[in-house]
Amino acid sequence: MKAITWHGKHDMRCEHVPDPRIEHGRDCIIKVTSCAICGSDLHMYNGVIPDMHAGDVVGHETMGEVVEVGPDCKNLKVGDRVVIPFTISCGECYFCQNGWYSACERSHPDAEKAAKLWGHSPAGLFGYSHLLGGYAGGQAEYLRVPFADTGALKVPGGMPDDMALFLSDIFPTGYMAAEFCNIKGGETIAIWGCGPVGQFAIRSALLMGAERVIAIDTIPERLEMARAAGAETLDFSKQDIYEAIQQHTRGRGADACIDAVGTEPFATSGADAMIDRIKVATFLGTDRPHVLRQAIHCCRNFGTVSIVGVYGGYLDKIPFGSAINRGLTFRMAQTPVQAYMPKLLGLIEDGLIDPSFVITHKASLEDAPGLYEVFNAKQDNCIKVVINP
Ligand code: NAD
Ligand code: ZN
Ligand code: ZN
Repeated sequence: MKAITWHGKHDMRCEHVPDPRIEHGRDCIIKVTSCAICGSDLHMYNGVIPDMHAGDVVGHETMGEVVEVGPDCKNLKVGDRVVIPFTISCGECYFCQNGWYSACERSHPDAEKAAKLWGHSPAGLFGYSHLLGGYAGGQAEYLRVPFADTGALKVPGGMPDDMALFLSDIFPTGYMAAEFCNIKGGETIAIWGCGPVGQFAIRSALLMGAERVIAIDTIPERLEMARAAGAETLDFSKQDIYEAIQQHTRGRGADACIDAVGTEPFATSGADAMIDRIKVATFLGTDRPHVLRQAIHCCRNFGTVSIVGVYGGYLDKIPFGSAINRGLTFRMAQTPVQAYMPKLLGLIEDGLIDPSFVITHKASLEDAPGLYEVFNAKQDNCIKVVINP
């Protein structure tokens, strides 16, 4: 089959690889009808994710039609249309039973490796390095879905792929980011990053009753999309974000701050961001947490900092003194997608949100490597790429 494979920094290829096969009784195989490129894939594309092997099949936002079902996967049949969460989870272990699917203790075949770096291992993920399980991803014609009986959500008959696909990742992630902010109505929520994840965080915060959402980015069309949802916007290349948020909140700070940028903020972001770049380039640091520092500073006393932008290792110069002296709460996670899917499917069915608003580009697998470049450079008004194999 054809699939998108990683071959090094800025080197994605559309290649022929062996078809996946059922390996365990609870597996299924899907024929992929739609998949997407995520901001997380850009971290691989830019070479900042460790333990990638040349030829790894990438992709973790995937849906399609079931074409083969393992003997122990009782709730699926050939022909079902399903969305696949990016987290691979057994549904039975201590963590899955608590709804913490992204920490499943059975889905990482080399958990010791991750535990060495992080203390404990999280779940395996589709198409996201050998540090996270070494699973083949879904930017391909076919995908093997382990634990398919808990890891595949059936899509209602008439719902088009474009409405359902983002239940795999970015809609639950944006929603979780807003949920972490404990919105009761009337709050001001500041959101860094108006990429796809930020866009879903903005809409989710407003759905939950936030009075004001202040969205921060510098890309005009992304800021425009944020305003269309009802957010106020700030351009970090044109104004001092701390000062602007102080003004917007009568000097108190935002009730909650969401980091939907993660470890790769733009170079123009500020002096500390420049120092981070030098440190990472010279192997003196692992991450570039400029946005996280700013989010902490801009958060009001006893407010919440919600982190969904991805970080990998050991973060320098985090203003922890600010956080403890002012009583901040930190919430963060790789999204336990399965915990959110049914509820968010309900929001789509009830007409409260149509996730397809974020799609700007459609492509074939052959065109996908070029679109990695376009999406990474934020060219051509690109916000979200959907691939139809
Ligand atoms: P993206 O790259 O399209 O969006 C990032 C946005 O941040 C861009 O619009 C960019 O212009 C903006 N940005 C850069 N520097 C900034 C700064 N200093 N201040 C404000 N904005 C700035 O990616 P995305 O798909 O929206 O993903 C965002 C992050 O979420 C990534 O780190 C991704 O890995 C992560 N993610 C996490 C999960 C999870 O489970 N926690 C799931 C999906 C994605
Ligand atoms: Zn993702
Ligand atoms: Zn589990």
